[in-house]
Amino acid sequence: MIDYVKPLDSLLIKPAGPDCNMACSYCFYYEKASLFPQIKKHRMSEDTLECLIKQALQQSNRQMTFSWQGGEPTLMGLDFYRKATQLQQNYGRGHVIGNGFQTNGILIDNAWAQFLRSYQFLVGLSLDGPRHIHDYYRKMRDGKGSWSKVTDTARLLLDSDVSTNALIVINDYSVNYPAEIYEFHKDLGLAHMQFIPCVETDDHNPGIAAPFSVSSDKLGPFLCRLFDLWLADFSGGIPATSIRFFDSIFYRYVDMLPPECTLLEECGVYVVVEHNGDVYSCDFFVEPDWKLGNIHQDRLIDLLNSPRQQKFGSLKSDLPQECKNCRWLGMCRGGCVKDRLRDPRDNKLNHFCRAYQMFFDYADVHFKRIAREWKIRQGFVSPPPPEQSQGKAKIGRNDPCPCGSGLKFKNCCGRQG
Ligand code: SF4
Ligand code: SF4
Repeated sequence: MIDYVKPLDSLLIKPAGPDCNMACSYCFYYEKASLFPQIKKHRMSEDTLECLIKQALQQSNRQMTFSWQGGEPTLMGLDFYRKATQLQQNYGRGHVIGNGFQTNGILIDNAWAQFLRSYQFLVGLSLDGPRHIHDYYRKMRDGKGSWSKVTDTARLLLDSDVSTNALIVINDYSVNYPAEIYEFHKDLGLAHMQFIPCVETDDHNPGIAAPFSVSSDKLGPFLCRLFDLWLADFSGGIPATSIRFFDSIFYRYVDMLPPECTLLEECGVYVVVEHNGDVYSCDFFVEPDWKLGNIHQDRLIDLLNSPRQQKFGSLKSDLPQECKNCRWLGMCRGGCVKDRLRDPRDNKLNHFCRAYQMFFDYADVHFKRIAREWKIRQGFVSPPPPEQSQGKAKIGRNDPCPCGSGLKFKNCCGRQG
């Protein structure tokens, strides 16, 4: 259990609660409307917005990131975010403030794009791939596909110099198309990609995962193929695209803490604030058991460090024996807690365990080499002696690499291409 005071440095905010102008089949958040049965339209008031920003900036150190999500956060209208940035300026003197914005892109127009660029918002745009993949589950309320509008939004954001990541859900259909999805985003100019494997409980049978969930057996080959594509695009040891899961794993190989909470030892490093100021433990645990308090009565920093949030955090390190014995525990940490609970047949083991094992087995040798090269470039370790690296001493392709990485020469400094 974490026994120091966790700093308040990021918040995930749901200003329009679970409300959305789309009806994607795999959405996990729309059902959260049942938490607020008296309210039909969920909107954060100016009073709650001010309370939130004031608390966040008074209780954080120098850095604070606000991540606006939903539901669909554009439903608040642009003036809400104009007010938010004005409040950030009022209360945040001396702070380095970041804003993230996760959107389905439907309402984004030129005025939004100009605003997002002016205030340097980092946008996460939900776009699953080419039309047949994206429209498979990402439908409008009238059942029509959303792909044309969302790809227009992607172009508008990129043309307007808005920093934009693609958020890509891997489901039972899209898992068959790793190369098509990767090349599509790359060609569009979305070089930063975040892949999100989908697993939810079946509405009709809580004893199994929903049919749109991706299986571990299919996710494993998907990740390996994606990794090959990512690796093939390296130039001079530097990746040309960013895939958040791979980037996060790379952090582990260079002995740094990964940015992705799923790879950390414990959860509970951030909290979620709903439209009415209610505070919850995590985006995937906005439910009565994990309600920590409300910002109109409680301090955010106290809720982040509350016994309830500590308890939530420690769920992650309560691992089954398979994980404790696993050679990949140091990388995987059992994965995301919600992925251990959505399909009871998994017996609290991660739904994607076999996929992760397959992927780590496959990618390990390459990550070791990339990490070694990175450490040499950073000056953390010495390069191999010149007479060896220049091939003056004859080294067989299958010999141990003279740089000391423990890899074969052909997989390390002697790698071609
Ligand atoms: S449950 Fe998953 S998403 Fe939530 S904090 Fe833990 S690892 Fe992160
Ligand atoms: S790969 Fe599977 S067994 Fe190993 S730590 Fe991850 S979830 Fe646990």
